[in-house]
Amino acid sequence: MEANGISRRSSLKKSKALSASTVDLARIRAAVREILAAVGEDPDREGLRETPDRVARMYAEMFSGLHDDPRKHLQRTFTQKYDEVVLVRDIEFSSMCEHHLLPFSGRAHIAYLPAGKVVGLSKLARVIDSIARRPQIQEQMTEQVADLLMTELGAKGVAVILEASHSCMTVRGIRKPTSITTTSAMRGLFRENSATRMELMALIYGRSH
Ligand code: ZN
Repeated sequence: MEANGISRRSSLKKSKALSASTVDLARIRAAVREILAAVGEDPDREGLRETPDRVARMYAEMFSGLHDDPRKHLQRTFTQKYDEVVLVRDIEFSSMCEHHLLPFSGRAHIAYLPAGKVVGLSKLARVIDSIARRPQIQEQMTEQVADLLMTELGAKGVAVILEASHSCMTVRGIRKPTSITTTSAMRGLFRENSATRMELMALIYGRSH
């Protein structure tokens, strides 16, 4: 399916174009050496000698989503008459803020109202990882996950809520270490029907919070 909501979004479109290539470790190593020299360090001193290589391998992992099509995790669905809400709470994720290249991490809550099609629960976590492991902003990530699930599952409704702490808020700039950013994307019935949405909020926040 090409004409779904997600392929219209710029960063996933970009990632499609990139998916043929892989991460260029040597290029990252050279760039990290360059940054170390630029800040006034000696990239050849003992403690830093392995750093460019470590950073290169870390980036390959943190940006591995660029070489992964999240839709592939949703291809295997099961026909199921269940038509109540499916909610997976507290899916941990970490991503990389595309403005500062600093990590942000937290928890995702994903809910959907199936229309005859359900997906293995672990696949929802895989989708989160795939979309998280690329240069991201939290707002965009929230919408990408919601649009992808809506399209691929043909669900009656999808809700995605992300709560994350951003290193770029905690270690630099205004330095607010305890701040948590919450974003949500509601689609279908969760958007149109406030009772359905409130039921969901009670499910997510009503018990342990
Ligand atoms: Zn940032």
